[in-house]
Amino acid sequence: MTQERVAYVNGEIVPESQATVSISDRGFILGDAVFDTTRTFGHEIFRLEEHIDRLYESLRWMRIDPQMSKETMSDLTMEVLERNLPTVDEHDDTWVTQRVTRGLRVAGGDIQSSADRPTVIIECFPIPFKERAHYYRDGMPVITPSVRRTPPDAASPRAKTHNYINLIQADMEARSQDPNAYAILLDMNGNLCEGNGSNIFVVKDGAIRTPKSQFVLGGISRLTTLDLAHELGIEATEEDIDVFDAYTADEIFVTSTSLCICPVSTFNGASVGDGGMPGPVTDRLQKAYSGLVGIDTVAQYTRWLE
Ligand code: PLP
Repeated sequence: MTQERVAYVNGEIVPESQATVSISDRGFILGDAVFDTTRTFGHEIFRLEEHIDRLYESLRWMRIDPQMSKETMSDLTMEVLERNLPTVDEHDDTWVTQRVTRGLRVAGGDIQSSADRPTVIIECFPIPFKERAHYYRDGMPVITPSVRRTPPDAASPRAKTHNYINLIQADMEARSQDPNAYAILLDMNGNLCEGNGSNIFVVKDGAIRTPKSQFVLGGISRLTTLDLAHELGIEATEEDIDVFDAYTADEIFVTSTSLCICPVSTFNGASVGDGGMPGPVTDRLQKAYSGLVGIDTVAQYTRWLE
């Protein structure tokens, strides 16, 4: 797979090596930008409409006008994906991302000034199936760092912005304790919140619980999992979950676009449930997820362990 990927930047689809933004771009200098990422399953795009809707909600919250309709954004996304699919191995899939920044800063303007045109980028990026494969055999260690998730009163975690410093700090702290660990941050009240790119669920007595939507990004995989639980007759609620609930859970799993549903092995070093990976509820949901998307989402990772 030597062919170079292409990306869309402000009206043009160019080879990635020529896809550049200005050093004056506010997305670069201030993190003044939003993005959204979906992926393919079996080379078919997943829930593009929901991801584009979420992108436009992030844009509205940020008061950035993309100067492009949702339809055009979707069409361009499909064009970029189709041009990149020949670079994706038949057993692999790809992330597909749109980014919109407020555009360039203006000479002579103050920090809030920007040129009239936003910067729009659409790109694909490989999902690290091989590197993450062990999580589907051994489970994922999760650590709650001292850093708390940005609260809605400071910057809404419901918008997917380019400002990931809070989540990066959390991951650095977790990974300094265990290089394989994922951070799951607590909210300002000490309840479980979310991680750098993932939502969390705890399972107790056959029911699943996930933090309230006010405090987290409304993960499309989180919503998909809640819908699947409903279809399977698994009780599912959104509520405050504290660390006691996590230590005493039967199972814990995280969800994300790329991970789908990934079992958690340890919580702050303590084994989760009886240590079986995955636990029975996680297993049922993983299978239902695979059924929905039309490929075995676990085998796509674990084939790298063979
Ligand atoms: N939480 C945060 C902060 C994220 O960045 C992501 C990833 O997009 C998620 C949760 C999971 O969302 P999704 O399931 O849409 O990938």
